Amino acid sequence: MKLFNTLSGTLEELKLLRKGEVSLYTCGPTVYDYAHIGNFRTFVFEDLLRRFLEYQGLKVKHVMNITDVDDKTIAGANRDGKKLQDFTQPYIDAFGEDLKTLNILPPNHPEHPPRATEEIKAMVALIEKLVAKKIAYVNDGSVYYRVSTFPNYGKLSKKKLEGNIQGARVDVDEYEKEEAADFALWKKAKEGEPAWDSPWSKGRPGWHIECSAMSMKYLGETFDIHAGGEDLIFPHHENEIAQSEGATGKPFVKYWLHAKHLLVNGEKMSKSKGNFYTLRDLLQKGYDPMAIRYALLSVHYRQQLNFTLEGMGASQEALKRIRDFWYERSFGAMRPEKQKGSGKLSILLKRTKQDFSEALENDLNVPQALGIIFAFIKSGNLISKDEIGTDEDKQADKFFNEVDDILGVFSKLFFTQDIPLDIRKLVEERQKVRKEKDFSRADNLRNQVRKKGFILEDTASGTRVKKLL
Ligand code: AMP
Ligand code: ZN
Repeated sequence: MKLFNTLSGTLEELKLLRKGEVSLYTCGPTVYDYAHIGNFRTFVFEDLLRRFLEYQGLKVKHVMNITDVDDKTIAGANRDGKKLQDFTQPYIDAFGEDLKTLNILPPNHPEHPPRATEEIKAMVALIEKLVAKKIAYVNDGSVYYRVSTFPNYGKLSKKKLEGNIQGARVDVDEYEKEEAADFALWKKAKEGEPAWDSPWSKGRPGWHIECSAMSMKYLGETFDIHAGGEDLIFPHHENEIAQSEGATGKPFVKYWLHAKHLLVNGEKMSKSKGNFYTLRDLLQKGYDPMAIRYALLSVHYRQQLNFTLEGMGASQEALKRIRDFWYERSFGAMRPEKQKGSGKLSILLKRTKQDFSEALENDLNVPQALGIIFAFIKSGNLISKDEIGTDEDKQADKFFNEVDDILGVFSKLFFTQDIPLDIRKLVEERQKVRKEKDFSRADNLRNQVRKKGFILEDTASGTRVKKLL
């Protein structure tokens, strides 16, 4: 498959460090507030990447950190008069719930996402290495990275040291630096700030060192893919490269992937403009979470996504078209009865599968892949029910399941729309007791659902709920 590597500025064939295995690091949320839909645009893109790699049979080691200490989290905790951890924990929990709502696979390595505050040792060790190599220097208890020691600085963002970096934004905390481009690795704590022990002072890590330390700890000094939103290219990822490669002398990451920022009604999201949406805001307006996911996914990750509420309506419609087709053919009135069909659907399906994969292999071209699905639906609708055999129908159902494994947008549990809340609750409860192997209670719940006019179908890929007509 081909991916656009920010480092080379070109589409590159993905060549893995280890056969059959992908090491993937995605920068996680800074937990000082609920994540907004811009954040989720990036997280959904990363989820698509992960799912498509897995679909191709690769084992993906996916690390995503939680940034639970930085300037913003500290400021938030101070404002609310809370201890840092008490301030961040509810946002960490909310983020986990939001991932589930949007059907984003949780990172799988290590078992829980590493939190910056629990990985300070690895950060201190990395900074010590840089100090020993004189790449970093200590000034009044804080430690800074000496950018002039890293000749390749700017290779990711294509910024030159002379010119646009010198005199760039100077962090107010960092007045002790030798050069404007130098950045803090360790910040001596000010009065009342959370602080950890280190050889230099009681203090806290800089944001950039957090990701270098956590990614290398869990994925090794060199790994395959590092992803995030485009705002992270500079300085965050540029600095990660300088820190990691400075310390190890090895290439840090092979492929750097960045999602373009989402705009709302053509503007940057901001609270003061009133165009700022968290996922929760949209759910409150009554949008189907899968329609939100669809809206975030349906524009190519390197194209500008302009989010509007009208666009949400279109996403909902598009999703309904796919769901209706799938549902009607596989379970509804259009379900074929004959065993053998004319073969028309098989031929169509074969080409569709091929084209669908090719679109995604080409830098995850989702708009093209969706176009192929809609073309399939259009042609499929022209084939009459009598011409389709049950075997072909099963193949089509399998294909839609595969598509859903990759796009994760049709929702396994609530297959049809308009499933009332009380039914959803019963279905969820049944999922839960089934996991606990309480099958008699599960059957009982199924019957309750049935009495309310819905039936459940357990398939290899999940449970479907359908309304009895
Ligand atoms: P943060 O919580 O600010 O550290 O950001 C989490 C992720 O969301 C990072 O990958 C950011 O690059 C990304 N991000 C932030 N704002 C947007 C936006 N408007 N559109 C897309 N991605 C964003
Ligand atoms: Zn990061």
